[in-house]
Amino acid sequence: MRLVLLGSPGVGKGTQAKFISEKFHVPHISTGDILRAAVEAGSPLGQQVKRIMDEGSLVSDDLMIQLMKERLQQPDCINGFLLDGFPRTIDQAKHLERILHQNHTPLDFVIQITVPEEEIIKRLSGRRIHPASGRVYHIAYNPPQERDLDDVTKEPLIQRPDDQEGTIRKRLAVYREQTKPLINYYSSNDLVTFETLSKHPVYYEIDGNRPVEKVNENLNAILGEETIRPNKH
Ligand code: ADP
Ligand code: AMP
Repeated sequence: MRLVLLGSPGVGKGTQAKFISEKFHVPHISTGDILRAAVEAGSPLGQQVKRIMDEGSLVSDDLMIQLMKERLQQPDCINGFLLDGFPRTIDQAKHLERILHQNHTPLDFVIQITVPEEEIIKRLSGRRIHPASGRVYHIAYNPPQERDLDDVTKEPLIQRPDDQEGTIRKRLAVYREQTKPLINYYSSNDLVTFETLSKHPVYYEIDGNRPVEKVNENLNAILGEETIRPNKH
């Protein structure tokens, strides 16, 4: 299964990705997690992107495309993958299409998760993460068993530097301008952008403004169809 989760920051992509990745045995590839690990390690990539991430802007398409090209060649992607946070621009989507075409591995699903902006601000300002695993919590909606500690390792949770209200609003504006056009790109019946592919991904839109389990049920229902879905293309 090859899947892209779309949606603005805070809609619950990472939260849902953890469940899907376990259930369907595909790696969860979060470009945000990859970049944060690079920043944490102080690698040249990390040094290059830290300021951009902290201010809530997007890292350049060139850098991201190169990074994904390498990531998708890793052996764990052989049976599929779940992309979370990529593509984020039309240019990234077109390059992704090209990479997958070359690998003969077209996308199966693109799922857009939607949540109203005021709810997103509440979610992101209360988000806490466990950087090493990417596990995600919320101080009110999904609190850890012990305050500020990861459930599995009991290591400290952190608040992301870009989860401050001013930066959240900036990221939402960046999403509206640069990423939202992907909805039309993937949902449109005008398949011109996919002329190189033998199969087009099935596009779904789901309401993310419901409890985690409800959103998860919805996703499982969609993805569970994979095995019985006739190949229409
Ligand atoms: P994204 O990966 O799309 O940025 P996350 O999965 O990190 O979003 O979720 C953002 C915040 O919202 C986290 O604190 C998470 O615990 C919380 N969250 C995720 N899904 C839901 C939900 N359905 N209802 C309430 N809070 C949620
Ligand atoms: P995320 O964890 O998905 O919210 O991403 C955190 C930050 O990483 C973003 O605000 C961007 O600065 C950067 N980033 C992650 N994915 C991408 C991408 N596909 N293109 C550009 N920047 C990205």
